[in-house]
Amino acid sequence: MHRIDRIYIDGAFVTPHGDERFDLFNPATEAVIGHVRLADAVDADLAVAAARRAFPAFSRTSPQMRVDMLRRMHEAVRAREDDLLEAIVEEYGAPASRARWMARHASEVLRDAAAVLENYPFTRRVGTSEVVMQPIGVAGLITPWNNDAGFITGKLAAALAAGCTAVVKPSEMSGLQTQVVTEALHAADVPRGVFNIVTGRGDTVGAALVAHPDVAKLSFTGSTAVGKGILRTAAESLKRTTLELGGKSPVIVLDDADLTQAATLALQAGFMNSGQACIAGTRILVPQARLKAFEASLVSAMADVRAGDPRDAATTIGPMVSEKQWQRVQRYIRVGIAEGARLIAGGEGRPAGIGAGWFVRPTVFSDVTNDMTIAREEIFGPVLSILTYRDEADAISIANDTPYGLQAYVVSADPARAREVAGRIDAGRVLVNTVAHDPAAPFGGFKQSGLGREYGTYGIEAFLETKAVLGVA
Ligand code: NAD
Repeated sequence: MHRIDRIYIDGAFVTPHGDERFDLFNPATEAVIGHVRLADAVDADLAVAAARRAFPAFSRTSPQMRVDMLRRMHEAVRAREDDLLEAIVEEYGAPASRARWMARHASEVLRDAAAVLENYPFTRRVGTSEVVMQPIGVAGLITPWNNDAGFITGKLAAALAAGCTAVVKPSEMSGLQTQVVTEALHAADVPRGVFNIVTGRGDTVGAALVAHPDVAKLSFTGSTAVGKGILRTAAESLKRTTLELGGKSPVIVLDDADLTQAATLALQAGFMNSGQACIAGTRILVPQARLKAFEASLVSAMADVRAGDPRDAATTIGPMVSEKQWQRVQRYIRVGIAEGARLIAGGEGRPAGIGAGWFVRPTVFSDVTNDMTIAREEIFGPVLSILTYRDEADAISIANDTPYGLQAYVVSADPARAREVAGRIDAGRVLVNTVAHDPAAPFGGFKQSGLGREYGTYGIEAFLETKAVLGVA
């Protein structure tokens, strides 16, 4: 049984003032595997105070000092990769291959930020002036459970690269990962107070950071509903705010696409991270005339999709993170059926032969129209919709007919044509014939998928204010 009863403030592991005990579960078995003692608003205040004390000196460190520090942080998290993988599988249920990617990603974001920082021009000449990029201040970083270790290190990497100090509020459901990451970063010899990690509930610790007068910058990843509330509160003090929110990403299969390749890509895009991915390609758009052939390709590609024990190497889809999430996904499957969509794979309940654990049957609906609930709302589970379009203009119109705009996928035999279609999609990222992430490219949403960008130069600039100094030679 794990017992996590320390948070990290001012360079030390301390007992929180908060005393709520939160159960951690193994979602593959539904067993309680440990407890986390949650921080409260008093702890949030102490963490902000530590970050504030550290800011004047840290914000004046040289970029080279911070490059070296980020490289030490990278090494330290990399050294704990196996422990991190174990934590991700145990408390989140990611299939082992995905969990390995997540554990590696958590260290790589630190190395990537160091590389960007090494060449970043903090000072430039514009007109007759000097333009200086200046760290904003104390950053509040709020992260969700679906890739928590990577969100913690990714947001910290950008904030610290810029010269900000930070307080991280991870999801209360990620206690094990947070513990491994915090121990690793503690070993990296970072000046005290520069980063603080305070696990607690969103409506206590999260809300305290959002309202805190000494927090100058917020970076939040999570649901669109919570993001809107954060933006409202942040407006009171005009905190600079980055929001990475939900998505309902289209996968546009153009009429020249190889259908076997398209079906494989659509399943990879849709079922990534067990469907618990903001960037999941959940609306598959296929030409009307090719629907039957595409359905056949997709059903045959489903043979490689396995929901089950995350420790089994053949598993591609693990359990949902919680019973609440499992219930949510089940409800959407029922809604899809009730609204007249046609199941071509999966359905309600657990996969055959699985008696416990929050496992969902990998589900694909066809005959979906873009006004159906399952085409409009983010499900956050392995439930995909196939929609048809008449021609390219219709495909683009359906793709853009969504409140979201985080990511889109285009599949075509003709990269130039796919590139042209990509240019007409309203989304922060459009992936042509690939599902691969590019850590140098900006990431973030159009419309209700968010505000601002993360990763690369764009990610660091989200933690910088632009200052012009006029009258200097
Ligand atoms: P959530 O919005 O409930 O919680 C996210 C984080 O915010 C958690 O740490 C939570 O404790 C905190 N929080 C909750 N209420 C808060 C409040 N009032 N004030 C401050 N903080 C608060 O989301 P979740 O259920 O943890 O994660 C799933 C959602 O996250 C999905 O909608 C998904 O699309 C989104 N997501 C987006 C991205 C992205 O980069 N765009 C990535 C992953 C997940």
